[in-house]
Amino acid sequence: MVNRVLVWASGSPRLQRQVTENPIARRVSHRFVAGERLDEALDAAAELNSHEIGAILDLLGEGVTDLAGATHAVEQYEEVTDAIPTRGLDATISIKLSQLGQTVDRAACVANLNEILDRAAGVGVPVEIDMEDSSLVSDTLDLFREAASKHPQTRLAIQAALRRTPLDLETMASLKPRVRLVKGAYAEPVEVALQGKQEIRAQFKFLTDWLFEHGTNPAFGTHDSDLIDYARKAAAQAGKSPKDFEFQLLYGIRRNLQEDLAKHGYRVRVYIPFGSAWYPYLTRRMAERPSNLIFFLRALVGR
Ligand SMILES: Cc1cc2nc3c(=O)[nH]c(=O)nc-3n(C[C@H](O)[C@H](O)[C@H](O)COP(=O)(O)OP(=O)(O)OC[C@H]3O[C@@H](n4cnc5c(N)ncnc54)[C@H](O)[C@@H]3O)c2cc1C
Repeated sequence: MVNRVLVWASGSPRLQRQVTENPIARRVSHRFVAGERLDEALDAAAELNSHEIGAILDLLGEGVTDLAGATHAVEQYEEVTDAIPTRGLDATISIKLSQLGQTVDRAACVANLNEILDRAAGVGVPVEIDMEDSSLVSDTLDLFREAASKHPQTRLAIQAALRRTPLDLETMASLKPRVRLVKGAYAEPVEVALQGKQEIRAQFKFLTDWLFEHGTNPAFGTHDSDLIDYARKAAAQAGKSPKDFEFQLLYGIRRNLQEDLAKHGYRVRVYIPFGSAWYPYLTRRMAERPSNLIFFLRALVGR
């Protein structure tokens, strides 16, 4: 129920305006979002790097409604890719195709994506592509295939909860894809996605094995200790060393676990969202964990 309300809240422009204009809400959002400015995200990445943890920089913003918004996102991403080597950071960037105009003008989106991929390749920064709601999955897979043929370093997020995912991966096997495996953050209908926690975990484990066999340098984007333990064991069984794959976690979530994995010799990367469009991201994190919602509401009423 709380989950459904939050999913509704994430799409409500009125509520979004009220929350994002509230100075306390803005401050509280900093637990999960590095800040509104690029230099704040770069500082967060440097701090993580000092603990042997890599970064994934994510400029918040999704579902742009005009090409001017998409062009602005490209310019900002270029600023990010240029800043990474200047600051000597171990960081990738992660983009959402809907932010580049996917639902407005596909050809423009392809051009925008290529511009970012070329610019990032020029300065040696790997690019990751987030996966959004199920209406965008087929097109995102097609665009990833094109991107990976020219820029094989590109990584794609794949959602374990979707019923179609095992087949999607099978059709990409010859590519030996670089994948970030996640559970999936969007509320999807039962025909499209598994709903039960255990079912989703079982599919995540199945896909973990698949990635060790058919993927390249897999990444597991989860805070779920059961799935992290499974990946560690599956790696050992597949004869992989801790450096052959990575764990990815979100900024501000399970910080001790992030450091612990890094101390035990695993590669760890933390996804750092930044920018002014933090509202949909924050509501998705609260939908995953009601205690975050309570933390947020308490801060708003000053208790
Ligand atoms: C690096 C990264 C990139 C991602 N990219 C995408 C993407 O492109 N597309 C997409 O659909 N989804 C993405 N996700 C989100 C993902 O799909 C899940 O919604 C999210 O990771 C929660 O699932 P979980 O596997 O961590 O398990 P959960 O069962 O949600 O969490 C396991 C445990 O982790 C802790 N935890 C989890 N979430 C929180 C939280 N919000 N606050 C505090 N503690 C928490 C709790 O201890 C919890 O018991 C990404 C996640 C990560 C980590």
